[in-house]
Amino acid sequence: MSKEELECSFCGRKKIDTSLLIAGLDAHICDRCIEQAHGIVAEEAVHSANGYLSKELMLKKPKAIKAFLDEYIIGQDHSKRVISVSVYNHYKRLLQPVTDDDVEIQKSNIIIVGETGTGKTLLAKTIARMLNVPLAIVDATVLTEAGYVGEDVESILTRLLQAADYDLQKAENGIVFIDEIDKIARKSDNPSITRDVSGEGVQQALLKLLEGTTVNVPPKGGRKHPDQKFIEVNTENILFIAGGAFDGIDRKISKRLNLQAVGFSASKKEKTLERDNLLKYIIPKDLKDFGLIPEIIGRLPVLTYMNPLDNGTLRAILTEPKNAIIKQYKKLFEMDDIDFVITEEALDFIVEQAVIYRLGARGLRSLCEAVLTDAMFEMPDSDDKSLHVTREYAEKKLNKSTIKKLKAVS
Ligand code: ADP
Repeated sequence: MSKEELECSFCGRKKIDTSLLIAGLDAHICDRCIEQAHGIVAEEAVHSANGYLSKELMLKKPKAIKAFLDEYIIGQDHSKRVISVSVYNHYKRLLQPVTDDDVEIQKSNIIIVGETGTGKTLLAKTIARMLNVPLAIVDATVLTEAGYVGEDVESILTRLLQAADYDLQKAENGIVFIDEIDKIARKSDNPSITRDVSGEGVQQALLKLLEGTTVNVPPKGGRKHPDQKFIEVNTENILFIAGGAFDGIDRKISKRLNLQAVGFSASKKEKTLERDNLLKYIIPKDLKDFGLIPEIIGRLPVLTYMNPLDNGTLRAILTEPKNAIIKQYKKLFEMDDIDFVITEEALDFIVEQAVIYRLGARGLRSLCEAVLTDAMFEMPDSDDKSLHVTREYAEKKLNKSTIKKLKAVS
């Protein structure tokens, strides 16, 4: 068949009557049919059980969710399992048909306890990426009770609306990650005369958001004032994930465990306890002792923990995740036709430095930058198209860099 004789297999238009004719295996489709088909697909998505969640996604079982998380997050197996189940249940809840029985599945909001830089935010981000839903990351430290200096809790939903490009339906199925939830713990057990505007007050304000309610949200943020337009956001289907380091909670856990160990099985318990990460033994009561009010704990029913990152994990983080830092540099260099190789010893050195400077996983990136900046500056317009980073090279570059000064600070 000559080029002129080609036609769209859907509408029969000849090639010359179309702006574009795309060939498939043994069929062709024109621009107009593509547009029409796209419209049908979009409409179908809206009409599916829940607007923006594709059928494929709904069918993802916990194991498949965990496999997805595995591609981006190293280790943290326990948390990944717990979160896979709770995300699965959350979306099952959204799909539950309206029936006459009285069983109503409740929300499975999550709280993750773990040192900073262990991947709590990354978990929330990866889940949002998998589900293709908007994600708002908010810092609990900036929140205060309404009427005080700081942000109202409604600002959380403003962020979510922004992340969803003001698509209300999208936002109402989104995820909110509340970082540093431990910073709004009650300051002391004694109700004092001064108000605890950034602690218990905020927890109270958060409560209604977590359980599901309709909130008037100022779309552009800022304080509510009478002549402002609001968007009504229903938080019923929003998944809340809270994270915090809860500094010192291990002492509370250890105290509790020792108290329990007074019983007859004390010696047996002692042996099986792993001292390296007491967070393993965390229970909701520990959060209460730390200063979260019981109602908040009740609304974050899924409690999990992150392990501290050891050398092996840090090393894996550099090279293994789907978008690992080293893979990113390789790609950057490739764009300038530069062949970038880094030796095992150089990688070990970067990990050692991250540990020495107590920078955790977050520091890996800054260390790599310090090592590679000179090369990234010089090489794009040089004839040298091969970069071989050895331990000596990395040491030399790092010695020169300002990152050294960090040591004095930490
Ligand atoms: P947190 O929220 O616990 O303070 P983040 O999720 O912000 O920590 O982690 C900081 C960075 O460290 C992330 O961007 C990621 O690159 C890296 N990181 C931390 N933990 C892991 C992990 N387990 N697997 C892969 N990368 C990680």
